[in-house]
Amino acid sequence: MLRERLLEELLTWSLAMGADEAIGDVAVDRFAESERRAQALAAARQTAAARQTAAARPAPTKPVAVAPQSSSQPAAAPQAPAPIAPRGAPAFDGGLAATIEAARAAAAAADTLDALRDAVLAFEGCALKKTATNTVFADGVPDGGLMLIGEAPGADEDRLGRPFVGVSGQLLDRMLAAIGRSRQADAYITNVLFWRPPGNRKPTDSEIAICRPFVERHIALVRPLLLVLVGGTASAAMLPGSPGITRLRGQWLTLEVNGLPEPVQAIAMYHPSFLLRSPERKREAWADLLSIKTRLEEPPK
Ligand code: URA
Repeated sequence: MLRERLLEELLTWSLAMGADEAIGDVAVDRFAESERRAQALAAARQTAAARQTAAARPAPTKPVAVAPQSSSQPAAAPQAPAPIAPRGAPAFDGGLAATIEAARAAAAAADTLDALRDAVLAFEGCALKKTATNTVFADGVPDGGLMLIGEAPGADEDRLGRPFVGVSGQLLDRMLAAIGRSRQADAYITNVLFWRPPGNRKPTDSEIAICRPFVERHIALVRPLLLVLVGGTASAAMLPGSPGITRLRGQWLTLEVNGLPEPVQAIAMYHPSFLLRSPERKREAWADLLSIKTRLEEPPK
């Protein structure tokens, strides 16, 4: 009875922490895992302390013969635990400004979209990566002239590693189809975050600030004709200080992006998940889609 109650509480807690699906048949005992890690760490510390004490002893004046170890002698000292951060990954303990700087440097070093994807995959500065299953970089055709930026991956996107593949993604695909566009032919889709926030919570300002250098570099490498900011979070992230999405949507703006010779034309529109909840706003979304279609068809000046 007590065990069942405990299990129920554990499940409730997991849901509150953002777990909303089982990804393995067998539960992973994280408690035992961290206990093993703590034991290995303690053993490694003991070994290091023993080495320090030995090093502090005065060196023998004459060489000393060392007898081979017999099996009755104490076992070899336990090895230090494997590093928790992946090998080669920079440690991010210098605060937010240093992490943003590291993101900026990594993004600036990427000269192609593939290099940028690799840089995002290798980046360890965003804590969301630890709870995400996949890094969600982008989907679609980058040279079709149209780039859309949404908020962040949800559960489906996190599982499949592609943006906008859940219910709201299906609506976005239909919205694109209504103006003769598709991610298979001529639309490119990404998000302001590359990892799913647990429980689909709103991205924090720090998470957005950390990912932003990659997003800006992304725009600079794609060089879209038009940029569509999908939803309030993406709009606020890319146009800080702008009014809320209800007032901002439908207006053409220009966005200066480092690495682009000219500002890019941008428009904000409602997020499809908002439209699913508030279908009465679809009329405004339709007007915005038509405006995007018209601009895309305008002959280049
Ligand atoms: N919502 C978003 O903003 N992006 C996705 O990729 C999926 C849902």
